[in-house]
Amino acid sequence: MPELPEVETITNDLKKRLIGWTIKGVWSDWPRYFTKSGGWPKVKRILVGRKILNINRLGKNIIFNLSEDYIMAVHLKMTGHFLLAEPKKTNFIHFFIKLGKGGKKSQLYFSDVRKFGRIIVGQSGEVMARPEIKKLGPDPLVITSQEFLDGIVGRRGRIKSVLLNQEFLAGVGNIYSDEALYLAKIHPLSRAEKIPSQKLKLLFNKLVGVLEKSIKLRGTTRQDYRDPAGKKGDYFNQRLVYAKKGSKCPYGGTVETIKVGSRTSHFCPKCQILY
Ligand SMILES: [Zn+2]
Repeated sequence: MPELPEVETITNDLKKRLIGWTIKGVWSDWPRYFTKSGGWPKVKRILVGRKILNINRLGKNIIFNLSEDYIMAVHLKMTGHFLLAEPKKTNFIHFFIKLGKGGKKSQLYFSDVRKFGRIIVGQSGEVMARPEIKKLGPDPLVITSQEFLDGIVGRRGRIKSVLLNQEFLAGVGNIYSDEALYLAKIHPLSRAEKIPSQKLKLLFNKLVGVLEKSIKLRGTTRQDYRDPAGKKGDYFNQRLVYAKKGSKCPYGGTVETIKVGSRTSHFCPKCQILY
């Protein structure tokens, strides 16, 4: 699933290309995307004629600010991603936007093999007040390590689950939580309330470091993720433990997996301490 670095990469690329363009037409063969926004006919009426004023990332959401105070908030979920050029195979495209600027034409394709993506369209106040948007925690690239520590105080439970909780911190998922816990040498099953503050600060710094590194490498492609040009992200080739079960860690351990909640966590039992 695309996480903060992948969504950041997509958002930045779309921002460079699409600000100031007007939506001339829309198409979808998956009306279920729009049930939360009052249905496809309504969404179509709202979108056509709107100008794209800004595009920003909020957690794992891409927020399109449109003219007349409308917003389109897209969560890519499992397999969603945007393409600016028409893909060779169009069978995974379930939402499509035609754009125009002056006499120029462009298009934006939403590719989504599994069709789990979530698209919310409406007046900005309404969209931002929705629980899945409003309840999002702070962004790890914005807060300080002290704010991270303050936020974790009083949180009980496994550190891995705490990191994945979008109301605690927005944007982190399975890949980067595994990588950061490995770098900070903290076992994913550790109880958040038992980890010393210094170790939590280290965890935060490692998390920010790995997110920034992945943004430079344009994200992680294990299977589906592509940037808007259709290219894969390179972080997967530089990952440390994620999806490396059975591989040797440089310090002699072997990467193992364990279920934390419903998610598979990758870790090195030799390096990572259980608190
Ligand atoms: Zn190790």
